[in-house]
Amino acid sequence: ATPAAVIAALGRLAGTGVLIKGGSALERLAGVTAFAFDKTGTLTEGKLELGDVVPLAGTTPEQLLRTAATAEQRSEHPLARLILREAAARGLEVPSADEFQARPGAGVTATAAGAAIVVGTRRLVEECGIVLPPEAVTALERLDAAGQTSLVVARDGGVLGVLGARDTLRPEAAQVLADLRALGVSPIALLTGDRAAVARAIAEQLPVTEVHAELLPAQKASIVGSGQWIVGSEESRNDESRDVTAEPPVAEPGSELLTSHRSLTIAYVGDGINDAPALARAGVGIAIGGGRGTDVAAEAGDIVMMGEPLKPLPLLVGLSRETVRIIR
Ligand code: ADP
Ligand code: MG
Repeated sequence: ATPAAVIAALGRLAGTGVLIKGGSALERLAGVTAFAFDKTGTLTEGKLELGDVVPLAGTTPEQLLRTAATAEQRSEHPLARLILREAAARGLEVPSADEFQARPGAGVTATAAGAAIVVGTRRLVEECGIVLPPEAVTALERLDAAGQTSLVVARDGGVLGVLGARDTLRPEAAQVLADLRALGVSPIALLTGDRAAVARAIAEQLPVTEVHAELLPAQKASIVGSGQWIVGSEESRNDESRDVTAEPPVAEPGSELLTSHRSLTIAYVGDGINDAPALARAGVGIAIGGGRGTDVAAEAGDIVMMGEPLKPLPLLVGLSRETVRIIR
């Protein structure tokens, strides 16, 4: 590669807060035809607000929040920060946990004062051998219908209740995705660990072409990785056959809609520890940096957006193509 062309492109990115780890990332981006985006903290602000608080019989809202906060203290997930903020706002004293384990894409498990606490998805709670009572199932369905992200709080094998959270779309997200499409990028997929109904509510506001929900971090990676090894084939780059106005199809959890686009090179954009595997397997991993303490995503990414999270993407794609054209 000609360093001068790369350096010139990097110069135009100065001030945008974009960090490119080596010239080859920019070259690879020039061959990218498809983008996949994480939802929480990437397309959305990740500044969650508390939604419904649904304690089951025998539990108070305060007990529910305090138990959740106890388990979430060492988690850096936006849901954890929300719960701790809410517990503090209500003046709740949060006992510290003895053992703590983060389950990326699922929740957290902890023990405190001899009690085992599980906070997270319905699937995580069930995997811990806990049966969801019908009231909890009803509450989860209601939160789904309201487009709220939900989490189940269990203690010593019993469900205490369910919490809901609302997130807002980044104001620039729709325009950035539209600009990428104008540059010929397609498909554009939304990948999330959240429920399909919540993913759909966000996708409706965006020009995405497909939605995959309830994904564990490894599943995000396998969807992204399935397209990475055939770098930028000409046919796929010119694929304009997709109907832009149609409702994006929603894949059944775990299925792999994107395998029909195996020939595409995929860039993945994500912000969290749960995105690190997908960032590493993408043709180009683009991380939103500077957010969470340990910044696992920034380490895994080839490109890091330290300033404005999504806005530089169309410029980056344009510059990458220009750079490659100059070099060749
Ligand atoms: P996304 O892919 O949208 O960034 P995640 O993969 O981080 O979402 O999380 C998927 C789901 O797992 C969340 O919707 C939530 O139900 C659950 N979850 C993840 N982390 C936590 C946590 N720290 N506490 C509670 N629930 C969590
Ligand atoms: Mg995220």
